[in-house]
Amino acid sequence: MDLQATLNSLREGNVSLSQIIVSLWEAIERREEELRAFISLADPDQLVRDGEELAGLPLAGLPIAIKDNLITRDFPTTCGSKILSGFRPPFDATCVARLRAAGAQVQGKTNLDEFAMGSSTEHSAFGPTRNPHDPERVPGGSSGGSAAAVAAEEALAALGTDTGGSVRQPAALCGVVGLRPTYGRVSRWGLVAFASSLDTVGVLARSVRDAALLLSLIAGPDPRDATCLPLPPENYLESLGEGALDGLRIGVPKEYVPAELSPAARALVDRWCALAREQGAEVVEISLPLTEYALPTYYLIASAEASANLARYDGVRYGLRLPGEQVAQMMAATRTAGFGREVKRRIALGTFALSAGYYDQYYGKAQRVRTLIAREFQAAFREVDLIMGPTSPTPAFRLGEKEDPIAMYLSDVFTLPSALAGLPAISIPGGEVEGLPFGLQLIAPRLAEGKLLGAAYALEQVLG
Ligand code: GLN
Repeated sequence: MDLQATLNSLREGNVSLSQIIVSLWEAIERREEELRAFISLADPDQLVRDGEELAGLPLAGLPIAIKDNLITRDFPTTCGSKILSGFRPPFDATCVARLRAAGAQVQGKTNLDEFAMGSSTEHSAFGPTRNPHDPERVPGGSSGGSAAAVAAEEALAALGTDTGGSVRQPAALCGVVGLRPTYGRVSRWGLVAFASSLDTVGVLARSVRDAALLLSLIAGPDPRDATCLPLPPENYLESLGEGALDGLRIGVPKEYVPAELSPAARALVDRWCALAREQGAEVVEISLPLTEYALPTYYLIASAEASANLARYDGVRYGLRLPGEQVAQMMAATRTAGFGREVKRRIALGTFALSAGYYDQYYGKAQRVRTLIAREFQAAFREVDLIMGPTSPTPAFRLGEKEDPIAMYLSDVFTLPSALAGLPAISIPGGEVEGLPFGLQLIAPRLAEGKLLGAAYALEQVLG
């Protein structure tokens, strides 16, 4: 049952809020010790008590899981890092405040790669999350806790964040729906910054219609985030209908179906094309030749922004502080102990890329390539309505399998280009490869979430 089916049976009196919460906690008792999707959890009795007063609101007191890089006033916010230990923010992120205003409650905070840097949730100071479909495998990342909680039915739905793929890739690996909105569609106020020009708040859900509902609730202008677009909120549920694929032109980039893709994965892509055609869509091959430059471009820009954003963790203002004779020693000791290896790698990379003498050679060049990638998508969208392909090149890999950072980074090759271009995209369950979930990704032009969700909904119906 998805969130909306649960809401309907609650409204019809077939189930009580207390029964819903008990059944979520039954799944948590059964699976959480092994999966470790959550870093912190609400008290279920408190949720039942507080939920009574929310009965009249759209989400009627239902709990939603929140990725732990989104600020919440009633839980610590850790970002999966030791450096924030003891940090208790006094406010809510805008997206969290909007969910609460709609009658949701915070179920708990979900595990993530430290500061959202990663694709497996193995880089968390709290230990890895495991994939509910096979606990020897990763759930993807960095929103791996949110994806695993939804897939294991420990949560009805969750918020995540997507900088370069962190909502879509874990959704694909865990077999749930993951929506990344247009950059600027949802306020970043209270999202702990990783790479500010790329960070977005997204949704992990059991169905496309739940993703549409939750996006409708969290989107909209916010004076506290200057990059949040001044567009009125929309009701994306109105975009969902069976006939949404009829007459659409869908482009499948040949760079997204490379020879390295397994035969089973290629067969699934063929199946998706056939299903879309049966629904009245025209499916054509397109080419996005700049795809191969997205990975180096992303890692230069994201690391450069991260090195600047993470400078604020200096032992003075937040969380951890280790002793040191002078202030500089205190800061060095705190940052050495507080950050994990991957975060340190990115800070080092980013600081180098921004350093005097190299700035234009690396960061400046990456910015120009980013513009070209965005233009390449714009040109493609003059020919097609939507772009379709796999979300990630492989299904879930084993814990410890990708020790080499480049191997890890490659699991985002199909999500990075659209992230650089600020485009909305969604991953829906597309079938199985090697007995594991494999995600279908749709990418839309800027601000075309309605079209994106409509097509995803229609494909979800026929994929079964
Ligand atoms: N896996 C990518 C990275 O490590 C994307 C992360 C994200 O979207 N937060 O940067």
